[in-house]
Amino acid sequence: MQTHPKFCTECGHATELKIPPNDTRPRACCDNCGWINYINPKVVCGVIFHHEDQVLLCKRAIEPRLGYWTFPAGFMECEETTQQGALREAIEEASAAPRNTPVFYANYSLPRISQVYSIYRAELDPNAHAAGPESLETRMVKIADLGQYELAFGIIEHAVGLLVDDMARGEWAVHDCALGGTFDRPEILEYQRLALRSD
Ligand SMILES: [Zn+2]
Repeated sequence: MQTHPKFCTECGHATELKIPPNDTRPRACCDNCGWINYINPKVVCGVIFHHEDQVLLCKRAIEPRLGYWTFPAGFMECEETTQQGALREAIEEASAAPRNTPVFYANYSLPRISQVYSIYRAELDPNAHAAGPESLETRMVKIADLGQYELAFGIIEHAVGLLVDDMARGEWAVHDCALGGTFDRPEILEYQRLALRSD
């Protein structure tokens, strides 16, 4: 899943995969100039638009999961905030701009694929959307009809589920979720043990 570069991006020398001093994980290291390649998770920004008993879904025009449904979401770009990223994706995928600033809604850790999802929610005029370049179609879908739509990813299904539950309760919450379990690396469990220790 994680690809270590075979050559140093600073000097072009071949790298060696090894655990640097005072570190816990193997990384591509350059013995020539000392460069170390750190691989960190990617952030995905998204926004769930809703109006009364409806949520906005987009039919994906791109792989992976072409033809499946999702809410606007995509990789965060450099030099933007997560909220700006969510709004950019809303324009790119659904030509949708909400009247009010989106509210932070859910954080997802997906350790198995090393991704973090930062998801917002916002009210949307039910007619103010159209397929952008990355979508085949956009639709405001009644919650009662959601079962007819095949959602693109487990995370999308989970987040829509949270929204549906909150709407049913008539109360918004902020959610922090982890999906797919962890690798249970000993060093991560050790950090967790130290962080949670009460003294
Ligand atoms: Zn180098």
